Amino acid sequence: EKGAGGYFIFNRDRENVMNETVLLENGLRTALHEEQLYLVYQPKVNPLTGRMTGYEALIRWNHPELGAIPPSRFIPIAESSGMIADIDFWMLREACRQTKGWHDLRIHKLPISVNLSTKHFYRMNIVGRIHSILRQTGLEPHYLGLELTESVFMNQAEQVVEALEELRRMGIEIVIEEFGTGYTSLSRLRHLPISTVKLDRTFFHNGEDLTEDNASVVKGIAGLVNSMGLRVTAEGIETETEQELFVELNCEELQGNFFSPPLDSRSFERYAVAEREDPIIKNS
Ligand code: C2E
Repeated sequence: EKGAGGYFIFNRDRENVMNETVLLENGLRTALHEEQLYLVYQPKVNPLTGRMTGYEALIRWNHPELGAIPPSRFIPIAESSGMIADIDFWMLREACRQTKGWHDLRIHKLPISVNLSTKHFYRMNIVGRIHSILRQTGLEPHYLGLELTESVFMNQAEQVVEALEELRRMGIEIVIEEFGTGYTSLSRLRHLPISTVKLDRTFFHNGEDLTEDNASVVKGIAGLVNSMGLRVTAEGIETETEQELFVELNCEELQGNFFSPPLDSRSFERYAVAEREDPIIKNS
């Protein structure tokens, strides 16, 4: 990984990390087939009413010996070992199957969004695979959103843009998150086939409560993104002050522990049913 001539100095800590990485890499191969992976669902809400507008699927791994392993630990291992395509397509199928089931049972009729790794995106025949997952599960394309980091445009940008255009034509929402990490300039955003920019917690939180500086950065960026005809949403909302900032910005959709943490499928179902029967009206 460090290239020709690259090196690092051996030490015990690194050896432990490497051993754990090998353990997790081997474990991941069986995890997929032994149902150790599952999805949780985090509601996205209308900032004014608190009503659910959709939700995001997030993957979880319950390792038989090590317990819960966070995605921030195993997704990079899946990416470097090449297993990420299998995992992402398993997750996508599961998310679409579950959503279609909820639609059919009239639990709700809302869209789901999923994260796709951008590491091998251009090699994944993404359009064909998504097409067949939607056909097999019966989910209508406009109930699916893909959340991608801007690094998706780093390799084979032309090919990626074409694939995303095709997905958008099918009715799928394309969201760019972790925007601002370096690959895409604001001016380039308007030429990309995306509909939404999702701001995360790092934009408005740097260890302290929401500061005036952070708030004005968010306002500036949201204004620019809006002026390009793109939607702005935000995740990682933990406090009322943060919520109020995005209400002020006319942000259409928010997500975060302030509204609800990610929920397992049963709890999510209860959340959706409770809301359907007894609408939560906030700030009105
Ligand atoms: P992400 O897409 O930005 O997901 C949001 C993360 O923020 C989730 O962490 C979620 O649990 C967490 N979060 C939600 N509300 C709050 C809040 O109010 N405060 C804070 N501090 N955090 C909050 P999680 O589930 O650990 O996922 C981390 C990342 O792992 C995701 O970031 C995504 O990049 C990746 N990931 C998760 N599921 C999948 C998947 O199925 N496939 C791929 N390729 N990546 C995934």
